[in-house]
Amino acid sequence: VFRRSLSTFSLLLFLLSLALAYQPVKVRYGVHKEKVRIVLDLPKKVPYRVFTLKSPYRVVIDLKSPSLRIKSLRLPKSFRYKVGKHPWGVRLVLLTPRAYKPKAFYVERPTRLVVDLYRGKARAVKRKKRKKVFKPYTIVVDPGHGGRDPGAIGYGGIREKWVNLRIAKYLAYYLNKDPRFKAVLTRRGDYFVSLRRRALIAKRHKADLFISIHADAAPRKNPRARGTTIYALSYRGAVSTKRKLVKDSRLARKLLSPDATDYRVRYILSDFGVRATLENSTRLARLIALEMKRVLKREVHFKGIRRRNFLVLKVPGTPAVLVEVGYITNPTEARRLRSPRFQKKVAYAIYRAIVRYFNFKPYRGVYLVERSLRRSKAKVAR
Ligand SMILES: [Zn+2]
Repeated sequence: VFRRSLSTFSLLLFLLSLALAYQPVKVRYGVHKEKVRIVLDLPKKVPYRVFTLKSPYRVVIDLKSPSLRIKSLRLPKSFRYKVGKHPWGVRLVLLTPRAYKPKAFYVERPTRLVVDLYRGKARAVKRKKRKKVFKPYTIVVDPGHGGRDPGAIGYGGIREKWVNLRIAKYLAYYLNKDPRFKAVLTRRGDYFVSLRRRALIAKRHKADLFISIHADAAPRKNPRARGTTIYALSYRGAVSTKRKLVKDSRLARKLLSPDATDYRVRYILSDFGVRATLENSTRLARLIALEMKRVLKREVHFKGIRRRNFLVLKVPGTPAVLVEVGYITNPTEARRLRSPRFQKKVAYAIYRAIVRYFNFKPYRGVYLVERSLRRSKAKVAR
């Protein structure tokens, strides 16, 4: 269960944080005989990282400066791309039709980062080296409620805060077993943590993803209400707020900044970063839905994906979802939510979704856990 009343206010805060001085980046290209040259026009020299991935072939360009925004982007027709806004800066992923060997360097006056993509495969030796320096993705796992805030009280007195923590801990366990991830819990025991503090934890750890775990309760504890709902940050909400702000310049000045002209508001809201964050939240929500259906099968009644703006999801630049795992007011679902086997399965499904989100294959060490789950299921069936 979560609070809705703060929604509009929290979205505005979200936008406010984005309104802080941005610095535009232009991306253009040139095709030469032996290479494709990608040129990034930058306002200043910033730390960067360029590396490649395969299946599918990708060239990843990380620009480490939180104030950068990609303003315009021109790329060869055969390239597709994704832009990700992160707390540390901007990630541009080029999906290339073939393997390229990148070489990056700066050119001054004006400042440009040149990334030359040479045809020809990167050598296997180099790839091994890269694996060693791979920095794991930080996933912030947020068990709802805690301490003096018990969340919903369900069938047989089961408490939401307890269920949330159990599932979150299993999820952190799976993630930490996989060297490609690092899980950070917003609380590790039964104590109170404010919503603002949870968002701050994500910001401090430069979270790549934020996942909040909750369980639902029906009004008047109606025992028939059931099902799983996943919430992603709302794009439509952002668009309607945009309209409101563009129409009402006095409100915009008050909420964004004293010099928030219509142009500025429009610019902020059409920002690539905002759109990428919202789209990535929805993509993650869809993957969680798919994996929950795959792992839990008939044990999950899926109600759908909804989009909403709420405070815990307001981590600028970090795609975020909130999972209402089931109804603790429903006797059947309460029994499942209480069982460690079910809790593990839910956590495992979310782990699988995260793996797919980053276009990874499941890690072998975590696959073993899935096998042990299958065994325990077989035991139950007997
Ligand atoms: Zn809740």
